[in-house]
Parts: sequence; C-alpha cells; structure tokens
Amino acid sequence: MQPNKPIILITEDEPKVLGSLVTGFREFGFHVLPALTGEEGLVLLLETKPDVIILDLNLPGRDGLEILNTIRRHDSAIPVLILSARDTVEDRVSGLETGADDYLTKPFAFSELLARIKALLRREIGKPKPEVDYKLNDLELHIITRKAFRGARDLNLTPKEFELLALLLRNRDQPVSRKILIQELWKVDRATSLNNVIDVHIMRLRKKIDAPGESKLIHTIRGLGFMITDNPDFEN
Ligand code: CA
Repeated sequence: MQPNKPIILITEDEPKVLGSLVTGFREFGFHVLPALTGEEGLVLLLETKPDVIILDLNLPGRDGLEILNTIRRHDSAIPVLILSARDTVEDRVSGLETGADDYLTKPFAFSELLARIKALLRREIGKPKPEVDYKLNDLELHIITRKAFRGARDLNLTPKEFELLALLLRNRDQPVSRKILIQELWKVDRATSLNNVIDVHIMRLRKKIDAPGESKLIHTIRGLGFMITDNPDFEN
C-alpha cells in the first residue's frame, strides 16, 4: 500500500468480472482488495479498513444485502456501491435503503463505475470524521482539544503520541500490531526501519501515562504488538 492510494474492496463471485475490475482499478491507481464471497469481503473489511466498497448482490453463501447489513453495523460511514444484475426499481430501492450509497446495474461500463467510485471518494474527503472522546479507567483523551489526562495530570502529548494513544484506545483490549501502527501513523507500508521509531514512541508514551505507582495501561503482547487495557489480568 502506498500513501494516498485509495483502497477499494471489491466483492464479486464471478472470477472473470472480478479479475477485470481488479485490473481496471489498479490501472487507475487504486489498491484493490478482491473477495469472491461476502464472508471474505467482511474479513478484508475488518483487517484493512478500505476507503470504498463495491458489492455484488448475488453471492454464494450470504447474500449481498445481508453482507451490507453487517457492514453497516460495523462501519456506518464507509461508502458502498452495489454492482448487481438485479435491475428492477425495487432492487435498487432496497439496496439503497439497506445502506448503499450508490447502485449500478450490470452490464456496466467501467468508465461509469470508475466515475461513480471517484464521486463517492470525493464526498468522503470533505466529511468531518466523527469526533469521539475516549476514557479508560482514569485515562481520558479529548479529540477536539487534542489533550489527554491521567486523573488530573495533563499528559502533554506530542501530536504523534496523541495519535498513537488514540489508535490504541480505539482498539482497547486488543493488541495492535507494529505493522498497523506504521501504516496508520506513518502512512507507509514496508518500513521495517520504523520498528525502532515505534518502540521509542511507545516508551515515551508509557513514561507519560504509566507513572510510578499507577496501574499500567499499555502492555507489550509478545509477537502481536501493543495493547491498552485496564484488565487486571495484564497487570505487570
Ligand atoms: Ca454474482
């Protein structure tokens, strides 16, 4: 994955159609995640956080609309375009009502599909991201003021430390791998040289958050990465 390359998840069970979509979007600078079933698509969605999704409706196993329901439960904001041979008005209405942002019927022209996908991505850029505050035990992080506190103590985080803490808190109680940290915070993919940088940032963040005498919140999970939790099982 390169920085600023839009990530598109394509779920399509017809290998030939999927293949030509993959080739087409790659040619236009997308990072493509292909999936032949809805279940495969959901796994990729959770692992990779794509920017936009193309979803077929007639799929083996779970139907596209069911998959869309699951997508919307997990991520209410990600743009989804349904690409389907079901071409009645009722089909299109039910797709849009289930939560699709756009609907294109097969057969389709790739140029139109590309234009629609680009329009969905443009719409996303101007949208403010949902602002959330995080609280874990006596640790608090305020998104708007970009400040974090442990109890009454202002942690005085640098911008990178703030992003790092926000990322850990978004995934609380789950380990976050070095790879994800590098991708999310430095927007690069193959950068093993950043491993040390991650370690230094984690060390500094720990010093600020886990003062002597306080319960430790940031844990190293061997082989998996780092995790923030107040679960006493991880007390060390
Ligand atoms: Ca199909």
